[in-house]
Amino acid sequence: MLKFDEALQIVTSSARKLGTERVELGRASNRVLAEDVICDIDMPPFNKSAMDGFACRRADLTNELMVVETIPAGVMPKKKIGKNQCAKIMTGAVVPEGADCVIMVEHTEVLAHNSSRRSAEPERDRIRFIGKCTDGNIAAKGEDVKKGDVVLRAGVLIKAQHIAVLASCGCTRPLVTIAPRVGIIATGDELVEPDRKPTACQIRNSNSFQLAAQVAGASAIPTHYGIAADTKQRISAVLTKAMAENDVVIISGGVSVGDCDLVRDILKENGVKILFERVAVKPGRPTVFGIKRLTAEDAESAEKEFQSAFGESAVRVYKRNTRFVFGLPGNPVSGFVMFELLVQPFLYKMMGHDFKPTSYRGQLERTIKRKNAERDFWLPVVTRYDGKVAQIDYHSSAHITALCEADGLICVPSGVTEIKEGATVVVRQI
Ligand code: AMP
Ligand code: MG
Repeated sequence: MLKFDEALQIVTSSARKLGTERVELGRASNRVLAEDVICDIDMPPFNKSAMDGFACRRADLTNELMVVETIPAGVMPKKKIGKNQCAKIMTGAVVPEGADCVIMVEHTEVLAHNSSRRSAEPERDRIRFIGKCTDGNIAAKGEDVKKGDVVLRAGVLIKAQHIAVLASCGCTRPLVTIAPRVGIIATGDELVEPDRKPTACQIRNSNSFQLAAQVAGASAIPTHYGIAADTKQRISAVLTKAMAENDVVIISGGVSVGDCDLVRDILKENGVKILFERVAVKPGRPTVFGIKRLTAEDAESAEKEFQSAFGESAVRVYKRNTRFVFGLPGNPVSGFVMFELLVQPFLYKMMGHDFKPTSYRGQLERTIKRKNAERDFWLPVVTRYDGKVAQIDYHSSAHITALCEADGLICVPSGVTEIKEGATVVVRQI
């Protein structure tokens, strides 16, 4: 059976970028930057006061200081600071020439002042420093970033902090990679949509919605293709449509070895080259990955279908002539785990981003033992405030409520039969 790392290598090395587009800054969150961003100014752009206080010379701190002007943020100082002089200054204002520190308002005593603190003539104020020592409280021009520096690299996943950098550099329409469109198909005669009450032998389709949420969470664009009954004709018809309209198709269910598990055969009959169909992961062994390269003609007609489905506004920057298909096991926990482990890094790679899961370490609360160590075994856990990692009561890969109590997954690697209480484990956040 294929080891997980090999499967991951196959999917990530198969991923293809889909092109680039510019988006408004307000819509750039969770997209992947497609070019290096260079700053057009120094940051800070001038020697900037980090405090509300008085700008003066360190050498004069033991003397009475005469206030020569008031400098609000956004206004250029008019005067140079000389011996025993200071300027009242606000946080974010330009430090005047001659001053080499800003003393905090809280560390000063006013000896005489005008009746109005915002007087047009503050020079009659005199102050004295009553602090012990002071930091400079000046953020030097260009100390964070120099004009011309690369501040963000292509491939970065844009989060709020990156948005701030883009805004500060005047990059209001960043170039980002095109997000893959992902069609989602549920298979199973027993399935009904969530708005229906299942009969005694039916089950609600939760996978499509779970997968769509995971796809959207991974910055890609999900589309539902409903439930396909377990017949070759139905699954094949839905698959054809979904492949015409998307870059990636995820089929849930029907990939195992039962009589009604038809997906692998259907994929092959539809020209999908299967790269693997079993991975040494528990839960999630029957996971399929395949690729279909369209002929120029098929790509053209698929493109036309896409245009008619999405309208003229659809961005057409390239000929999308490759389709990727994942077949994930029907059990919802298996599907969830395999999406997290395999599909998510694949989708990010399609966008030019090397995905790294958020993980942290903790101490295992209770020993885990198992007999069969053939596969990597992923378990839902919760990490307590004291750093103890506790297993969630987890019955089977249909037990979706267990995942809701968990904040992460831990892996017992293949070949390992026991992890002892107190051992350090790596928790992958979910
Ligand atoms: P399968 O992989 O098709 O053999 O399905 C395995 C198990 O997952 C069965 O108990 C199915 O009823 C269940 N299952 C399959 N598809 C879904 C779905 N879309 N939503 C919820 N459960 C499902
Ligand atoms: Mg099924």
